[in-house]
Amino acid sequence: MTARVDHAVSSGTFSLDGETFDVDNNIWVVGDDTECIVIDAPHSVGDILAVVGDRKVTAIVLTHAHDDHCRVAPALREEANGGSGAPILLHPDDKPLWDLAHGETYLWDVDLSDGLALEVGGTTLQVIHTPGHAPGAVCLYAPDLGCVFTGDTLFHGGPGATGRSFSDRGTLEGSIRAKLYGLPDDTVVHTGHGDDTTIGAERAALG
Ligand SMILES: [Zn+2]
Repeated sequence: MTARVDHAVSSGTFSLDGETFDVDNNIWVVGDDTECIVIDAPHSVGDILAVVGDRKVTAIVLTHAHDDHCRVAPALREEANGGSGAPILLHPDDKPLWDLAHGETYLWDVDLSDGLALEVGGTTLQVIHTPGHAPGAVCLYAPDLGCVFTGDTLFHGGPGATGRSFSDRGTLEGSIRAKLYGLPDDTVVHTGHGDDTTIGAERAALG
């Protein structure tokens, strides 16, 4: 069975530093016909499970813990796999943001770390720690599929936002240059919001 990438868009809000914004988030699901990994858990469990279908969810992987990316992770954990559940994976450096979204009530299950390899549907997602947009932000590189899931670290048109608490522009650009620009030019970038791009196009733009 060949692994593939499935996608949907989910609408809701993002809140931080006392402000709230309407946002559309990408939902990415990687796997084959049998099992899959869900990347990010934005506004609606139903939107996510519609992409999952009847497949087994082996992990809910969060690119970072801004509330628009992790809000329904605990609910999805409960409902996935017919109620038998699925683990939430998050880099522990995002605990301050997780606590803003969920308090201490629903901790995640497994810590992500740089270099960790996640296997699903006969393919591999390599965890790349890319702090900057958030301290525990990660990207997930799928070499077999020729793509990388960047959350809010890298968008079509450049690096993610760094204007709010727990973000740092210099750290973000350093992460992108050191950790993402080494990937092949034609690597498709699946972002947390908006359109796809490629590593080559964004490297040329940022310089
Ligand atoms: Zn974010």
